[in-house]
Amino acid sequence: MTNTNVYLPEPVKVLENLRETTDNFRLVLDIPFKNEPGQFVQISLLGIGEAPISIASWDRDYLMLHIREVGTVTRALGRCKPGDTVFIRGPYGKGYPMKEAEGGNMVIIAGGCGVASVKGVFDYVGKNRDKYNEIYAFVGYRNSKEVIFEDFVDEWKESMSLFVSLDTLKEGTCYDATEGFVTDLVKITELPKGDTVAMLCGPPIMMKLSGRALIEKGMPEDKVYVSEERLMYCATGTCCHCMIGSTFTCKDGPVFRWDELKEHTP
Ligand SMILES: Cc1cc2nc3c(=O)[nH]c(=O)nc-3n(C[C@H](O)[C@H](O)[C@H](O)COP(=O)(O)OP(=O)(O)OC[C@H]3O[C@@H](n4cnc5c(N)ncnc54)[C@H](O)[C@@H]3O)c2cc1C
Repeated sequence: MTNTNVYLPEPVKVLENLRETTDNFRLVLDIPFKNEPGQFVQISLLGIGEAPISIASWDRDYLMLHIREVGTVTRALGRCKPGDTVFIRGPYGKGYPMKEAEGGNMVIIAGGCGVASVKGVFDYVGKNRDKYNEIYAFVGYRNSKEVIFEDFVDEWKESMSLFVSLDTLKEGTCYDATEGFVTDLVKITELPKGDTVAMLCGPPIMMKLSGRALIEKGMPEDKVYVSEERLMYCATGTCCHCMIGSTFTCKDGPVFRWDELKEHTP
């Protein structure tokens, strides 16, 4: 079964629920999903509710989601076991500009849970490596206990230069991490020369500072893309909860160009 009607919640079996940190888990769902890197789905549990979650996979024979437990739906999803049924509708929104980036370099910057949103980009470039020149990925976590997707690191390193930072450095991670914020790592690293597209996802302050750092280093604003999160319900541009100025996060985003977002932010 694949996702055929994006408006219809489809029942899907849980294959795996892997605890990654104390309040973060990974769900692997039994559905070969068709999506663009950076898009999201609405996942629901009957009688409990629905939540938008970024798709952390691309062109795999399963759908992967990475979820932080913050409230009713995400905590209930955290208790799901293999064999349980969840409901999925989507994919929704505009993803990262994989086509536009072809023939040039890519800089990917992600922090914490934001790595889930760019994980689809990592899957994509792993299968389309010949379409891009240099790929630099900067990934930041609070400390070694907050590291997610650790089992994918070797795969990522095959297709890109991976730079990892931990706010506080501790033993016990397989990364060669440096201590400090990921934004500082971006500032001190010489970026690839020539046409480059940047893709950012993480806490708002991280995206703001990394975006500014890239622009100060000479990147045009229309080559920097950020993935935004807003409270949303319908995901189809109807309920208006996710609007940023006159634009919808669910339909026009969640991935926005830096200069476009500036136009819509008061
Ligand atoms: C496009 C998009 C992609 C997302 N991707 C992921 C993902 O990959 N992994 C993940 O863990 N989370 C992701 N989120 C956030 C996730 O949707 C919320 O954490 C979830 O809806 C909370 O539902 P709940 O019922 O567990 O919590 P609730 O009980 O509904 O809320 C708990 C608290 O979180 C706040 N909250 C809920 N949703 C949001 C939001 N979107 N932004 C800011 N605060 C919010 C509420 O106001 C409340 O304070 C994404 C959100 C969007 C819009």
